[in-house]
Amino acid sequence: MPASLTGATRLAGVIGTPIRHSLSPILYNAAFTALELDWAFVAFEVAEGEGAAAVDAARVLGLDGLSVTMPHKEAVIPALDRLSPTAAALGAVNVIGREGSELVGHNTDGAGFVDGLHHDEGIDVSGRRFAIVGAGGAARAVTRAVAEGGATEVVVVNRSPERAEAAVALAGGVGRVGAEADISDVEVVVNATPQGMAHLAALPFDPDLLRSGQIVVDLIYHPPVTALLAAARGRGLTAVNGVGMLIHQAARAFRLWTGQDAPLDAMSAAALGALTRERP
Ligand code: NAP
Repeated sequence: MPASLTGATRLAGVIGTPIRHSLSPILYNAAFTALELDWAFVAFEVAEGEGAAAVDAARVLGLDGLSVTMPHKEAVIPALDRLSPTAAALGAVNVIGREGSELVGHNTDGAGFVDGLHHDEGIDVSGRRFAIVGAGGAARAVTRAVAEGGATEVVVVNRSPERAEAAVALAGGVGRVGAEADISDVEVVVNATPQGMAHLAALPFDPDLLRSGQIVVDLIYHPPVTALLAAARGRGLTAVNGVGMLIHQAARAFRLWTGQDAPLDAMSAAALGALTRERP
């Protein structure tokens, strides 16, 4: 945190519910401190149905940046002046920035996924075949981003086929709805379901479908090693958790708000520190 807050301190925050366990204040305040910026970041508990009202309040109060999480990613849209092309395509906003007098909605989740693989793992999405398991907000963002990034095939596998079709529509010509058996035939498998988060032993699919040489990415970051990632590692596969996506979607927000490149090392250290401490 800044040593002292002054009348000149600029404020950013996150709205959502539940919000008290959010890592965002830890990530962004570590970044502001590392760059000695006179900014602070706080979490706002905003009840379902109050997302647009919270954006109106942020506009009046002159907040310089707003991060948006569940359940407000769609509900904030009517309160904004404009959307980025990605946020418009996804119909979901995770970051709000100011451009002059306008509040603009962005969605940095998919780009954060692609950046995380590139920067942290040396893996480029271009030319690769993906299976995305799940078709919710995160899956949709990742599906669009990897297709835009040059993936040659994006197979969406989801228990509700109609939601899988909606996700595939974001992948241009390279998407198709698939079945679990398709998991064996791709290069990169992404778990975009919450299976493995609350129930630690839960698996999103049968790990016997995994094949040698595959990269397995779990969007979950708490716990840092899910049952799926443990199964992938046990088979000698590259296993990547959701911390990279978390850091890099925030890094893009940081750049939008401050105009500066995010201090990735400080943000990663803060996130990993928080994740390894026991969280209430
Ligand atoms: P969401 O919108 O609620 O979507 C969840 C998806 O998972 C849906 O497609 C749902 O299927 C499927 N699903 C849920 N429970 C399932 C089960 N028991 N068996 C099979 N499928 C199941 O959630 P989200 O926002 O996309 O988040 C998904 C995951 O990504 C969460 O674990 C979240 O923490 C993580 N995430 C990580 C980051 C990051 O920065 N690392 C960012 C965003 C999200 P139906 O369509 O059939 O309901």
